[in-house]
Amino acid sequence: MSKYTAPRGTKDITPDDMPFWHYIESTSRSLFSLYNYQEIRTPVFEHTELFERGIGDSTDIVEKEMYTFSDKGDRRLTLRPEGTAPIVRAYVQHGMHSKSKVSKLYYCGPMFRYERPQAGRYRQFHQIGVESLGSALPICDAEVIAMGVHLFDELGLSGLSVAINSVGCPVCRPVIEERLKQFIGLNLEHLCGDCNRRFDSRPLRILDCKNSTCKTYMTGLPDIRDSLCHECKDHFNYVVGYLDNLGIPFQINPQLVRGLDYYTRTTFEIGSDQLGAQNALCGGGRYDGLVSQLGGPATPAVGFAFGIERAVMILQEMSDYHQRVNPLVYVAPVGFDQVAKSFLLVDRIRRAGYRVELETSKNELKTHLKQADKLNARLVLIYGEDEANVDKVLVRRMADRTQELIPFDHALEYIVSELEDDTF
Ligand code: ATP
Ligand code: MG
Repeated sequence: MSKYTAPRGTKDITPDDMPFWHYIESTSRSLFSLYNYQEIRTPVFEHTELFERGIGDSTDIVEKEMYTFSDKGDRRLTLRPEGTAPIVRAYVQHGMHSKSKVSKLYYCGPMFRYERPQAGRYRQFHQIGVESLGSALPICDAEVIAMGVHLFDELGLSGLSVAINSVGCPVCRPVIEERLKQFIGLNLEHLCGDCNRRFDSRPLRILDCKNSTCKTYMTGLPDIRDSLCHECKDHFNYVVGYLDNLGIPFQINPQLVRGLDYYTRTTFEIGSDQLGAQNALCGGGRYDGLVSQLGGPATPAVGFAFGIERAVMILQEMSDYHQRVNPLVYVAPVGFDQVAKSFLLVDRIRRAGYRVELETSKNELKTHLKQADKLNARLVLIYGEDEANVDKVLVRRMADRTQELIPFDHALEYIVSELEDDTF
């Protein structure tokens, strides 16, 4: 064990893992641009007050999880625990509302929370998120949810499910809270200290408590949706209708609230059955009050964020992940005389945008194939004297060990179609 290790709850992203990160980041960027979103980058630290006001001071994040410090000028600063409050701060600071009716922004970067580290839960983790500011229409909520689903489809993540709920607005929230209190109050003495403290001021928070004892007392809870005002009910029905219309499967979960105070109306979560205890991959919802709360003009907004580490975990669980994330072509010249021509083919494949390993230090086919296996290559191109004599290349698919002789000048075309074939 080396003398110095990365601090508890942090980890290095090693070159072995990096292809997953690049794959997730680049797929997200291209997908967001299809929806006409633009990237924004904000500082890694902000004034502590931004999070206290934005996220809410009776949330787990603000009460227990923030990395807060004073700098040498005695400013109270906090490493950002999430991305929405900083983006809203930037939105207001740069007067983005006056530049266009709707601002569609996305971000990617590290977040910091002092949590108990475990699989899928770190103290420094990374999120990719989107925020659409300026529209109160339910189509906007549906578009944001659909974009998340589209992204995870595009990434090839399987076993996902979408849960959706509405937590109401300032008009009906007091009614919802009163009904919850009537129910929860019956068992208050059995609930944890946090729940007791939050009972009066933030009873909705209790639904999000991770304590297993508290959870057992939540069965039979009144359905939040019965207490929604007309406008919130209509809004929710529209969102649900739009999702149905796109054929996106989802479940309504009347207990789904999120760990941050700023949500209004729609909340949603995308979970995976492959993540174990930390099964949430993506969380989001509408936050119509946050912009004005942070000093901007009243501006409705909706967004989501997902954890890159958790997306990587799902990809790694999938058996064909190596080839899917970043397929490798292994080129095996058998004999020194075949190196130059192999090099030409390698150059063509790389220029077409694919990853190639050219191995020139091995002369035996058997050792080449062993090495290709070790590197998890999807295709091996064998070019020996026999192939050279007929001006062909032997293309071997490593998944099923089948192979085919292809004329040298058609090899590139053939290889590209093999690599683009998702059903291999
Ligand atoms: P959880 O219920 O797992 O604590 P959360 O409700 O706190 O999640 P959000 O604040 O909504 O999560 O963040 C959205 C996503 O960011 C989560 O679904 C998860 O993928 C990821 N995430 C949140 N906290 C962590 C963490 N400590 N380590 C790794 N990923 C995290
Ligand atoms: Mg959390």
